Amino acid sequence: MILPPVTGQQNSYYVSANSAVKIEESKDMGRFAVAGKDVKIGDTLIVEPAFVAVLLAEHAATHCFHCFRRYGIYGK
Ligand SMILES: [Zn+2]
Repeated sequence: MILPPVTGQQNSYYVSANSAVKIEESKDMGRFAVAGKDVKIGDTLIVEPAFVAVLLAEHAATHCFHCFRRYGIYGK
């Protein structure tokens, strides 16, 4: 899997994040990320590979549950 690089300076605590990213927490919303300084449109602030992936139910008859490739009479 090829991931795009994070834009700008790396966060000193969160290695997958831009230095603008701060993690905050509130009783109502739990933990969440905010920008602690101005960011530009198009900046990539956090990049991490997917932790988990699932096949959508509408593709269950036509795609593999493991690799998500199309199979059977519909695929290659
Ligand atoms: Zn497969």
